[in-house]
Amino acid sequence: GNKNINAKLVLLGDVGAGKSSLVLRFVKGQFVEFQESTIGAAFFSQTLAVNDTTVKFEIWDTAGQERYHSLAPMYYRGAAAAIIVYDITNQASFERAKKWVQELQAQGNPNMVMALAGNKSDLLDARKVTPEEAQAYAQENGLFFLETSAKTASNVNDIFYEIAKRLPRV
Ligand code: GDP
Ligand code: MG
Repeated sequence: GNKNINAKLVLLGDVGAGKSSLVLRFVKGQFVEFQESTIGAAFFSQTLAVNDTTVKFEIWDTAGQERYHSLAPMYYRGAAAAIIVYDITNQASFERAKKWVQELQAQGNPNMVMALAGNKSDLLDARKVTPEEAQAYAQENGLFFLETSAKTASNVNDIFYEIAKRLPRV
């Protein structure tokens, strides 16, 4: 029969990587060039049907600024899933993503489904992080990896769908 599950999901990553834009694309199907930066964190919810299960994502979009770092555990504690976002045109954002992965491995729920999103895949000419490098890192650390674009919508629904498929079924 049909099942409904609720899944708390947190987005983590550097300021400007595109966390809010990914959420806006997933939840509202929109993109804005001048997305306002997030203060503290913002909450959204969206449902997704996967086979006979309806997954209701309860999404926490965090700010990413260092000065809000101490708040992050409030959002990832108890989360079933995390999307760690970097910007493919910004090497430092990839390094920051790895720090978030380490923190989640040390402090997060051990069964958390973790996805690595290399965002802004539309900006190919400015690429600094190769997909091979990111894929290798993801594989070593038990994450799954997709390059996404909140701007073109490439792989945005897919990343949430892949997470939904990997969530433990009650
Ligand atoms: P956040 O700080 O991680 O939440 O990043 P934002 O969602 O606020 O995005 C930062 C900037 O990058 C904004 O100007 C967005 O319009 C832009 N942006 C976000 N995602 C993409 C994308 O996939 N492609 C391009 N070209 N720009 C993006
Ligand atoms: Mg934001």
